[in-house]
Amino acid sequence: MKVTFLGTGTSQGIPVIGSTHPVCLSTNPKDKRLRVSVLIEWHDYTYVIDCGPDFRQQMLRANCNRIDGILFTHEHADHTAGLDDIRPYFFRQGDIPIYAHKRVLGELERRFDYIFETENKYPGAPSVQKNIITNEPFDVGGISVIPISGMHYNLQVFGFRFHNFAYLTDMKTIAEEEMEKLKNLDVLVINALRESEHPSHLNLEQALDIINILKPKRAYLTHISHLLGFHDDVQQKLPENVFLAYDTLNITI
Ligand SMILES: [Zn+2]
Ligand SMILES: [Zn+2]
Repeated sequence: MKVTFLGTGTSQGIPVIGSTHPVCLSTNPKDKRLRVSVLIEWHDYTYVIDCGPDFRQQMLRANCNRIDGILFTHEHADHTAGLDDIRPYFFRQGDIPIYAHKRVLGELERRFDYIFETENKYPGAPSVQKNIITNEPFDVGGISVIPISGMHYNLQVFGFRFHNFAYLTDMKTIAEEEMEKLKNLDVLVINALRESEHPSHLNLEQALDIINILKPKRAYLTHISHLLGFHDDVQQKLPENVFLAYDTLNITI
Protein backbone atom coordinates (compact mmCIF):
# COMPACT_ATOMS: atom_id res chain seq x y z
CA MET A 1 0.00 0.00 0.00
CA LYS A 2 1.30 3.43 -0.93
CA VAL A 3 0.19 6.63 0.79
CA THR A 4 0.90 10.08 -0.68
CA PHE A 5 0.35 13.19 1.40
CA LEU A 6 -1.51 15.52 -0.97
CA GLY A 7 -1.82 18.23 1.67
CA THR A 8 -0.71 18.59 5.30
CA GLY A 9 -1.83 22.10 6.25
CA THR A 10 -4.59 23.35 8.50
CA SER A 11 -7.70 25.03 7.14
CA GLN A 12 -6.11 28.18 5.72
CA GLY A 13 -3.11 26.35 4.25
CA ILE A 14 0.48 27.59 4.50
CA PRO A 15 1.32 30.29 3.56
CA VAL A 16 -1.77 32.00 4.94
CA ILE A 17 -2.93 34.70 2.52
CA GLY A 18 -1.34 38.03 3.41
CA SER A 19 0.63 36.67 6.39
CA THR A 20 4.14 37.93 7.14
CA HIS A 21 4.77 35.18 9.73
CA PRO A 22 8.29 33.74 9.12
CA VAL A 23 6.91 30.24 8.42
CA CYS A 24 4.57 31.70 5.79
CA LEU A 25 7.57 33.44 4.19
CA SER A 26 9.78 30.32 4.31
CA THR A 27 11.34 29.23 1.01
CA ASN A 28 11.61 25.59 2.16
CA PRO A 29 9.11 23.57 0.05
CA LYS A 30 8.32 21.50 3.20
CA ASP A 31 6.84 24.66 4.75
CA LYS A 32 4.28 25.01 1.93
CA ARG A 33 1.18 23.10 2.94
CA LEU A 34 -2.04 22.62 0.98
CA ARG A 35 -5.21 21.57 2.80
CA VAL A 36 -5.14 18.04 4.27
CA SER A 37 -5.76 15.01 2.10
CA VAL A 38 -4.05 11.71 1.33
CA LEU A 39 -4.01 9.45 -1.71
CA ILE A 40 -4.02 5.74 -0.88
CA GLU A 41 -3.12 3.17 -3.52
CA TRP A 42 -3.07 -0.61 -3.45
CA HIS A 43 -3.12 -3.12 -6.33
CA ASP A 44 -4.98 -1.17 -9.03
CA TYR A 45 -7.10 0.84 -6.58
CA THR A 46 -6.79 4.53 -5.81
CA TYR A 47 -8.77 6.31 -3.10
CA VAL A 48 -8.50 9.76 -1.59
CA ILE A 49 -9.45 10.84 1.90
CA ASP A 50 -11.19 14.23 1.75
CA CYS A 51 -11.51 16.59 -1.17
CA GLY A 52 -10.64 20.11 -0.04
CA PRO A 53 -10.25 23.36 -1.97
CA ASP A 54 -6.80 22.31 -3.29
CA PHE A 55 -8.04 19.00 -4.77
CA ARG A 56 -7.46 19.98 -8.43
CA GLN A 57 -3.92 21.17 -7.81
CA GLN A 58 -3.16 18.12 -5.67
CA MET A 59 -4.38 15.61 -8.24
CA LEU A 60 -2.43 17.34 -11.01
CA ARG A 61 0.69 17.34 -8.83
CA ALA A 62 0.24 13.65 -7.98
CA ASN A 63 -0.41 12.87 -11.65
CA CYS A 64 -3.48 10.91 -10.58
CA ASN A 65 -5.58 10.00 -13.62
CA ARG A 66 -8.20 7.80 -11.99
CA ILE A 67 -9.88 7.48 -8.59
CA ASP A 68 -12.04 4.70 -7.25
CA GLY A 69 -13.65 6.83 -4.57
CA ILE A 70 -13.45 9.55 -1.94
CA LEU A 71 -13.77 8.91 1.80
CA PHE A 72 -14.84 11.93 3.85
CA THR A 73 -13.76 12.52 7.45
CA HIS A 74 -16.26 15.36 8.04
CA GLU A 75 -17.96 18.26 6.30
CA HIS A 76 -15.67 21.23 7.04
CA ALA A 77 -14.85 23.23 3.92
CA ASP A 78 -11.11 22.48 4.08
CA HIS A 79 -12.09 18.80 3.58
CA THR A 80 -14.94 19.10 1.07
CA ALA A 81 -14.82 22.35 -0.94
CA GLY A 82 -13.11 20.74 -3.97
CA LEU A 83 -15.91 18.31 -4.78
CA ASP A 84 -16.80 20.05 -8.06
CA ASP A 85 -13.31 19.22 -9.37
CA ILE A 86 -14.15 15.52 -9.60
CA ARG A 87 -15.53 16.45 -13.05
CA PRO A 88 -12.58 15.14 -15.12
CA TYR A 89 -12.84 11.79 -13.29
CA PHE A 90 -16.62 11.74 -13.71
CA PHE A 91 -16.38 12.45 -17.47
CA ARG A 92 -13.99 9.52 -17.92
CA GLN A 93 -15.30 7.06 -15.33
CA GLY A 94 -18.94 7.88 -14.59
CA ASP A 95 -20.43 8.39 -11.12
CA ILE A 96 -17.67 8.70 -8.51
CA PRO A 97 -18.26 6.68 -5.30
CA ILE A 98 -18.18 8.79 -2.13
CA TYR A 99 -18.22 7.45 1.44
CA ALA A 100 -19.38 9.59 4.34
CA HIS A 101 -21.46 9.76 7.49
CA LYS A 102 -25.15 10.40 6.77
CA ARG A 103 -24.84 13.90 8.30
CA VAL A 104 -21.86 14.71 6.05
CA LEU A 105 -23.70 13.45 2.94
CA GLY A 106 -26.60 15.73 3.91
CA GLU A 107 -24.23 18.70 4.10
CA LEU A 108 -22.69 17.84 0.73
CA GLU A 109 -26.17 17.57 -0.81
CA ARG A 110 -27.02 21.01 0.52
CA ARG A 111 -23.79 22.72 -0.58
CA PHE A 112 -23.46 20.93 -3.93
CA ASP A 113 -27.16 20.46 -4.71
CA TYR A 114 -26.50 20.47 -8.49
CA ILE A 115 -24.22 17.41 -8.14
CA PHE A 116 -26.97 15.44 -6.41
CA GLU A 117 -29.80 16.68 -8.67
CA THR A 118 -31.72 13.81 -10.27
CA GLU A 119 -34.15 15.77 -12.48
CA ASN A 120 -33.21 18.27 -15.19
CA LYS A 121 -29.58 17.95 -14.23
CA TYR A 122 -27.23 20.41 -15.94
CA PRO A 123 -25.21 18.43 -18.50
CA GLY A 124 -21.74 19.48 -17.26
CA ALA A 125 -22.39 18.66 -13.61
CA PRO A 126 -20.64 15.63 -12.10
CA SER A 127 -22.46 12.80 -10.35
CA VAL A 128 -21.56 10.69 -7.37
CA GLN A 129 -22.56 7.32 -6.01
CA LYS A 130 -23.42 7.76 -2.33
CA ASN A 131 -22.29 5.34 0.36
CA ILE A 132 -23.31 5.97 3.96
CA ILE A 133 -20.69 5.10 6.59
CA THR A 134 -21.70 4.10 10.08
CA ASN A 135 -19.20 3.17 12.77
CA GLU A 136 -18.89 -0.33 11.26
CA PRO A 137 -16.26 -1.72 8.88
CA PHE A 138 -17.01 -1.29 5.16
CA ASP A 139 -15.35 -2.62 2.01
CA VAL A 140 -13.49 -0.60 -0.57
CA GLY A 141 -11.25 -2.12 -3.22
CA GLY A 142 -11.25 -5.55 -1.58
CA ILE A 143 -10.15 -4.13 1.79
CA SER A 144 -12.22 -3.86 4.95
CA VAL A 145 -11.87 -0.27 6.20
CA ILE A 146 -12.42 0.30 9.91
CA PRO A 147 -13.87 3.72 10.79
CA ILE A 148 -12.50 5.38 13.92
CA SER A 149 -14.95 7.83 15.47
CA GLY A 150 -13.58 10.86 17.28
CA MET A 151 -14.68 14.31 18.38
CA HIS A 152 -13.63 17.61 16.79
CA TYR A 153 -14.87 19.96 19.55
CA ASN A 154 -18.59 18.97 19.40
CA LEU A 155 -18.56 17.52 15.88
CA GLN A 156 -18.21 13.78 15.29
CA VAL A 157 -15.51 12.94 12.72
CA PHE A 158 -14.28 9.68 11.21
CA GLY A 159 -10.72 8.47 10.85
CA PHE A 160 -10.00 5.32 8.85
CA ARG A 161 -7.89 2.20 9.32
CA PHE A 162 -6.74 0.19 6.26
CA HIS A 163 -4.85 -2.94 7.39
CA ASN A 164 -2.04 -1.59 9.59
CA PHE A 165 -2.31 2.01 8.42
CA ALA A 166 -4.62 4.54 10.11
CA TYR A 167 -5.39 8.14 9.23
CA LEU A 168 -6.89 10.50 11.80
CA THR A 169 -7.44 14.19 11.24
CA ASP A 170 -9.36 16.99 12.93
CA MET A 171 -9.64 15.02 16.15
CA LYS A 172 -9.53 16.45 19.63
CA THR A 173 -10.67 13.45 21.67
CA ILE A 174 -10.95 9.73 20.94
CA ALA A 175 -12.97 7.44 23.19
CA GLU A 176 -11.35 4.43 24.84
CA GLU A 177 -13.21 1.87 22.67
CA GLU A 178 -12.15 3.70 19.50
CA MET A 179 -8.52 3.72 20.68
CA GLU A 180 -8.78 -0.10 20.86
CA LYS A 181 -9.20 -0.14 17.06
CA LEU A 182 -5.79 1.53 16.68
CA LYS A 183 -3.60 -1.15 18.26
CA ASN A 184 -0.67 -2.76 16.37
CA LEU A 185 -0.34 -0.17 13.62
CA ASP A 186 2.65 0.06 11.31
CA VAL A 187 1.80 3.68 10.50
CA LEU A 188 -0.45 6.16 12.28
CA VAL A 189 -1.16 9.58 10.76
CA ILE A 190 -2.58 11.99 13.33
CA ASN A 191 -3.38 15.69 13.47
CA ALA A 192 -1.13 18.04 15.49
CA LEU A 193 -2.02 21.68 14.93
CA ARG A 194 0.47 23.70 16.98
CA GLU A 195 2.02 23.79 20.46
CA SER A 196 -0.67 25.79 22.24
CA GLU A 197 -4.06 24.40 23.23
CA HIS A 198 -6.92 24.54 20.68
CA PRO A 199 -10.61 23.71 21.32
CA SER A 200 -11.11 21.42 18.33
CA HIS A 201 -7.66 20.06 17.38
CA LEU A 202 -5.00 18.05 19.18
CA ASN A 203 -1.92 20.11 19.87
CA LEU A 204 1.58 18.64 19.52
CA GLU A 205 1.81 17.38 23.11
CA GLN A 206 -1.63 15.72 22.97
CA ALA A 207 -0.85 14.04 19.63
CA LEU A 208 2.46 12.72 21.04
CA ASP A 209 0.61 11.41 24.10
CA ILE A 210 -1.75 9.40 21.87
CA ILE A 211 1.19 8.11 19.82
CA ASN A 212 2.85 7.05 23.07
CA ILE A 213 -0.24 5.12 24.16
CA LEU A 214 -0.81 3.45 20.77
CA LYS A 215 2.86 2.81 19.97
CA PRO A 216 2.61 2.47 16.18
CA LYS A 217 5.90 1.56 14.49
CA ARG A 218 5.91 5.02 12.87
CA ALA A 219 3.72 8.10 13.21
CA TYR A 220 3.27 11.11 10.94
CA LEU A 221 1.79 14.45 12.02
CA THR A 222 -0.56 16.39 9.76
CA HIS A 223 -3.14 19.27 9.66
CA ILE A 224 -0.33 21.61 10.66
CA SER A 225 -0.57 25.35 11.37
CA HIS A 226 2.21 27.79 10.54
CA LEU A 227 2.25 28.44 14.31
CA LEU A 228 3.84 25.00 14.87
CA GLY A 229 7.08 26.37 13.37
CA PHE A 230 9.48 25.57 10.55
CA HIS A 231 9.33 21.96 9.34
CA ASP A 232 13.03 21.28 9.88
CA ASP A 233 13.09 22.77 13.41
CA VAL A 234 10.00 20.85 14.56
CA GLN A 235 11.27 17.57 13.07
CA GLN A 236 14.46 17.77 15.16
CA LYS A 237 12.44 17.92 18.38
CA LEU A 238 10.30 14.85 17.66
CA PRO A 239 10.83 11.32 19.00
CA GLU A 240 12.73 9.07 16.58
CA ASN A 241 9.67 7.23 15.20
CA VAL A 242 7.59 10.41 14.74
CA PHE A 243 7.77 12.52 11.60
CA LEU A 244 6.26 15.78 10.53
CA ALA A 245 4.47 14.99 7.26
CA TYR A 246 4.95 17.36 4.34
CA ASP A 247 3.17 17.74 0.99
CA THR A 248 4.20 15.15 -1.67
CA LEU A 249 5.76 12.81 0.95
CA ASN A 250 4.94 9.25 0.07
CA ILE A 251 5.32 6.20 2.22
CA THR A 252 4.95 2.50 1.60
CA ILE A 253 3.26 0.30 4.16
ZN1 LIG B 1 -9.61 20.51 8.90
ZN1 LIG C 1 -12.53 20.31 10.67
